[in-house]
Amino acid sequence: MSDAVKAKVALVTGGSRGIGRAIALELASRGYLVGVNYRSSQKEAEDLVRSIRDAGGTAQAYGGDVSDPAQVASLCGAMEKELGPISILVNNAGITRDAPLVRMKDEMWDQVLRTNLNSLFYCIRHVVRSMAKQRWGRIINLSSVVGIMGNPGQANYSAAKAGVLGLTKSVAREYAPRGITVNAVAPGFILTDMTSVLSESIREEYLKNVPLGFPGTPEDVAKTVAFLASEDAKYITGQVLHVDGGMVM
Ligand code: NAP
Repeated sequence: MSDAVKAKVALVTGGSRGIGRAIALELASRGYLVGVNYRSSQKEAEDLVRSIRDAGGTAQAYGGDVSDPAQVASLCGAMEKELGPISILVNNAGITRDAPLVRMKDEMWDQVLRTNLNSLFYCIRHVVRSMAKQRWGRIINLSSVVGIMGNPGQANYSAAKAGVLGLTKSVAREYAPRGITVNAVAPGFILTDMTSVLSESIREEYLKNVPLGFPGTPEDVAKTVAFLASEDAKYITGQVLHVDGGMVM
């Protein structure tokens, strides 16, 4: 572990499965103290924490629905007490509730916006003060290629993921003078539970638009996030890094 990452505390929202799990593993392997947030998959979160500890790392699971500001305050508070001030925030938790626009219910729209966009506001608002006090912080937000290109059947999801980009750039400008960098990562087609529900024909359709011709892995995204969290990325802020096999260029 280098001095630069010694004792840095990282919160990964939705860290129990998929991309978040890979991010938690990657950060822990680089010596960060990792808080693994989950909403309902407690067992997966605890198994992950155990495997990080078995490998010599430090991690702790924190349950809480990040779309609820009171739960964000309480899980962040518990984490700060146990691990120390959060200096790296990875806003990864996300859901899909897809439907053609005319069949999209208010609640599908609200759930996706609350989970994929409002939650970032709640988490950032909570951690940014102590980051500013430390004059060092990293905020990394998971967006999506869909937030840039749009996607039929995902008006709610693409609106939220496009919102993530605006939020990222505004907070990056607002907190640059305090030594905090804020960036977004926009994955393309990554193999996780979220994409496992897609039919074979939709997957083939997606892959036709991937110049590299194959889907990405959660680890591909995790390594990009770990780079943005590192000192190597100290001069990068307000950017969107695409991890998508060339889908958007
Ligand atoms: P996933 O496999 O479905 O995992 C989602 C994670 O988010 C789970 O750990 C889940 O925890 C957590 N979560 C969901 N709602 C939550 C809430 N309200 N509070 C706390 N945790 C919550 O998804 P993924 O594919 O890894 O996606 C991770 C991120 O990357 C998302 O933001 C997604 O939009 C984005 N992304 C994914 C892809 C892709 O191809 N997979 C592409 C572009 C962007 P529980 O199980 O406990 O609910």
